[in-house]
Formats: sequence, structure tokens, C-alpha cells
Amino acid sequence: MPASVEGVDVAVVGSGAAGLSAALVASVCCARVLVLEKSTLLGGTSAMSGGGTWIPCNRHAREAGVEDSPEDAMRYLHATAPEGWAQTETALWQSFVEHAPVMLDFFEEHTQLRFELVHEPDPFAEAEGGRIFGRMLTPSLLDRAIAGPYAHLIRGSTLPQHITYNEAKRYRVYERPMRAAFALGPRWLLRMATGRVGCGNALIAGLLEGCTRHGCRIVAGARVTGLSQDAATGRVEGVSYETAAGRREIAVRQGVVLATGGFEWDPELLARHFPGPVDRISSPRTNTGDGQRLAEAAGALLERMDQANIYGALPVTYEGRAHGMPAIFNASPHAIVVDRHGKRFVSEYHFNIGEALDRRDPETGEPVHLPAWIVGDRRFLHQSVLFPRMARREPGFLIQAETLDELALRIDLPPASLGGTVARFNGFAAAGRDEDFQRGESVWERYMSGSEDGGPNKALGTIERRPFVACKFNRSLLGTKGGARTNAKGQVLRPDGSVIPGLYCAGNAMANPFGTRAVGSGTTIGPCLTWGHICGLHAVREGS
Ligand SMILES: Cc1cc2nc3c(=O)[nH]c(=O)nc-3n(C[C@H](O)[C@H](O)[C@H](O)COP(=O)(O)OP(=O)(O)OC[C@H]3O[C@@H](n4cnc5c(N)ncnc54)[C@H](O)[C@@H]3O)c2cc1C
Repeated sequence: MPASVEGVDVAVVGSGAAGLSAALVASVCCARVLVLEKSTLLGGTSAMSGGGTWIPCNRHAREAGVEDSPEDAMRYLHATAPEGWAQTETALWQSFVEHAPVMLDFFEEHTQLRFELVHEPDPFAEAEGGRIFGRMLTPSLLDRAIAGPYAHLIRGSTLPQHITYNEAKRYRVYERPMRAAFALGPRWLLRMATGRVGCGNALIAGLLEGCTRHGCRIVAGARVTGLSQDAATGRVEGVSYETAAGRREIAVRQGVVLATGGFEWDPELLARHFPGPVDRISSPRTNTGDGQRLAEAAGALLERMDQANIYGALPVTYEGRAHGMPAIFNASPHAIVVDRHGKRFVSEYHFNIGEALDRRDPETGEPVHLPAWIVGDRRFLHQSVLFPRMARREPGFLIQAETLDELALRIDLPPASLGGTVARFNGFAAAGRDEDFQRGESVWERYMSGSEDGGPNKALGTIERRPFVACKFNRSLLGTKGGARTNAKGQVLRPDGSVIPGLYCAGNAMANPFGTRAVGSGTTIGPCLTWGHICGLHAVREGS
């Protein structure tokens, strides 16, 4: 590192949930902290998010009388993890379970962020240690203005941000937007006029306020391009970055935290780790895998590069370009999802349907089900007034036909196979039981279909009214989840298991111990915040 123009204790790369969480903790611990953000907007994917935050054993649940324990949370993680993950991830799960509730209390003490419980079960509530309520939280409404000079830089979203996650669920904003607008009515307008926000915008506004109050510096439009290391020890001692004003270098005393999100917008990395069709991407275009490359160049082991947050997404325009808005439009009574042979392969209401879509051939690494299709009838098309409008934005996305055979031919599926699949499903719908995938029967799927009261299975409906409809349903990515392998303190590791001193990694930029299979609908934000907290804490405690 040539003579530095300035120096800090901790440099954080990226201003999403993971980065600002690390920055906040380090700032509260009196470190001199600098956050560098490549985009001219702050908050990354986290600002665009619904703000759903999965935190086991949290104080709000305890106060609501819900019993939870670290042991039960660990049992749940073990019971629901993909085969073989426990060997490498147990220490990280343990660290997450211990730190997550502490992180939450810390944020509520040191920022204006307040969290509220969401009435949502764990997606595997029946598994050992699962809960039907208490682990999902979301930020309450906040004035964006609390972020002071950064308020106008908070990234906008494809999702409405002037409501809370709870309101979006309660008023079914996607399915019944008019009714939701009517129910929220003047409140919504007032919030738009005054800049009162919920979801990811509230999360980022609260974190920015906390960071600035504790003296943290934040620079937008600053892309980190390199890490400098001590030649003998490999210790990371500085970062170089580019702004509109030119290239700069800065010395870092205690630690650099990489929190640059996923690599989903890098075409080469995406094609290498996610071969096959990808429909849409929902995160900011600045998430191009810079952190993964910086870590690798510093000697890090990269792992879990084939893991991602995968759901359905509808076509929208964002920042003037084609983008994906995450939506669970596959969970509709009068629709099924079929593979390239016209066969069902998963319950369409399954929370982790993305994992099923992404199933790979172990020999070739290629997806086995894709291209996949949603096939439904007229009632599927009108599941939401928004759906046909949004679907028609992308020419060729929505395909209609008067008969199932004609539809099959138009999407290149064998008509006999598709016809047989639909007839079998219609039989299940008439009988009220899906013998193949038990659609609508688990706690999560009953919650999704509004059948929690134990009445008839509302997830099942026939597919018989013309026009018949098909739309592409391949993977859409909210963010990849692979990157630098870390230990339980967030320190980045080399392939031989040794620590790269001074280098930490958090959020979607790390080899995430929670991969494609999500354990709660806030499985990324909760751990992102927590890993940021862990990294920030250890950087100031041990980095000097
Ligand atoms: C619409 C939407 C809704 C979602 N809702 C939820 C939800 O409710 N709950 C949930 O758990 N998850 C949700 N997710 C997923 C979740 O938002 C992300 O997984 C999470 O926010 C990732 O956080 P992060 O801090 O790792 O990365 P990000 O928030 O993406 O932040 C990374 C930042 O790093 C910056 N950066 C990249 N390279 C550089 C560089 N070289 N130098 C400086 N900065 C750099 C990027 O510009 C970006 O701002 C949602 C995602 C989307 C798209």
C-alpha cells in the first residue's frame, strides 16, 4: 500500500443489511468506520426487500409468550438442512443462533429501528424444533428522513415500501391491490407524502441513522477494486476504490468486511454456477460478484457458489430496464407447475419451490426439470388484477390456448403427457387430496392457501375453464448465496483452513450456511444482519 491519504479502523464494502450491520456495531464500539458503496444509491437488495427477518429465540416472541430455545433452533436447523450440510455448517449455525437475538436487541437499543412479529409459521413447522409463530419479524414503519443526508439516497424497490410486511400480508397487496389500497387508503397516501416507510426501506433508514449517529462515514458511488495485503502474513491492510473523482486508497487497521451481495448480475459467473435458463433477477445490477473476486484474489476459499435465493418473479421495469419482482404467483388453486416432460415434480405451494426448480443432475450439474411451466386455467389468469397486466409486459411470457392439447403444442410439451397430468390433478382437486405432493396439507401450505382453520383444502382447484394458460417458470434469482468460506467469527478462510487476518465476509457474499433451502421467509435478511453483527464485533475486538 503506497502512502495512504487517510486511514480507518474498519472498512465495510457494500451498504446492504450485512454491511450496515457490521458498520453500526463497529461504530458503536468507537471504531473509525468507512462504508464504501459502489452504487450511487444505498441499501442494496436489502433496501428493496420485504424486510422479513428470521430470528429464533427473539425477545418479541418471548414477550408474546412464545417459548423458544437455542437448542430447539439448532434442532430445527439440523432437521431441515440438506444432506451433509451439518458437517460444515454446525459451528456457523450455532454462532448465528447465539448472536441473532443479541443483534436484534442491539439494533433496537442503538437505532430507531423497531421490529414487530409477523404471523407466519416456519416453512418446516412440523420438523423437530419448528415453530408455528414467533421467529419471523419485520421492521415497523419509520420516517425515511431519519437517515438525514442519506435519506434521498435509499434505493427504491419493485415492491411497495410505504407499508409494512404485516400489512402486505394482511391486505394481500399482490392478490387484492385495489382492496388493499382502499383499506389502507389515506394512510398510504399520507405515508407517501411524508416519506414514512416499512419493509427494506425502513430497515436501511434505521441502520443509516444509527451508523451516522455513531460517527460512521458512508460514501456512495465508491466501487472497491482491490485489497492490499502484507506480503509476509497476508493480512489485509487496506482497500482501493474508485469514485467519480478518481482512484483512492485507504489503510485499514482492524478489518475489512466484504458485504457486496451476490454475483447474479455477472453473466459469466451466473452461467458457470447456474447453467440453464434463469427467467429474471430481482436485485440491483451492481451485485456482480466483486466481493467474491476480491476474496478469491486475497487467497480465500469460495464455496456454496451454486446456492441462491430462488423464487418466481414477474416482469417489471426498474431503473428503466427489464427486472424481476418476486411474487409467489405459482401458488394458485387452479394451476400446476410441470417440468419439461409435462409432469408435476413438487407441490406448487411449497415454500422452497426454488430448490425443486434448481434440482441438478449430479453428473452434469445441469437442471433436471427445466424448462418448467405453470399451467392453469382462466381463474389462474385472474388470480390478481396485477398478474395479467404484469405478465403482458414481457412479450411471449403468457401463452393462451382454447384447448390443453393446443397449449401443450405451443409450449413444446407432449400433449398426452400434459393432458394426463392435468386430468390426474383434477381428480385430486375433486377428491380434496393431492396424492402425489400433498399440496395444501403442511402448516406452511395451509397458511399460504388460507386453510389454517382446518376446513377444506383451498389449495386445490380444477384446471378446466378455457382459455388455458401457460407461463415460463424457470429460476428467478433474488440473490446468489455463495462466496468466501468463513469461520464462526466471520473471518475469511484459505483453502487450508487458515484465517486471512483482517478479512471478514457477511451476507450473500459469504458461503452462506443457509443456502437455497430457506428455513424461514426471512432467512436471508435475519442471517445477513447477524453475520454483519458478528463480523463488525470481531473486527473491533480481535482485528488490532
Ligand atoms: C424484492 C426483494 C424482496 C426480498 N425480500 C426479502 C425478505 O423479506 N426477507 C429476506 O430474508 N430476504 C428478502 N430478499 C432477499 C434479501 O433482500 C437479500 O438476500 C439480502 O438483502 C442481501 O443482503 P446483503 O447485505 O448480503 O447484500 P445487498 O443488500 O445486495 O448489498 C450489497 C451491496 O454491495 C454493493 N457492492 C457490490 N460490489 C461492490 C463493490 N465492489 N464496492 C462497493 N460496494 C459494492 C452493492 O451495490 C449493494 O448495494 C428479497 C430480495 C428482493 C430482491
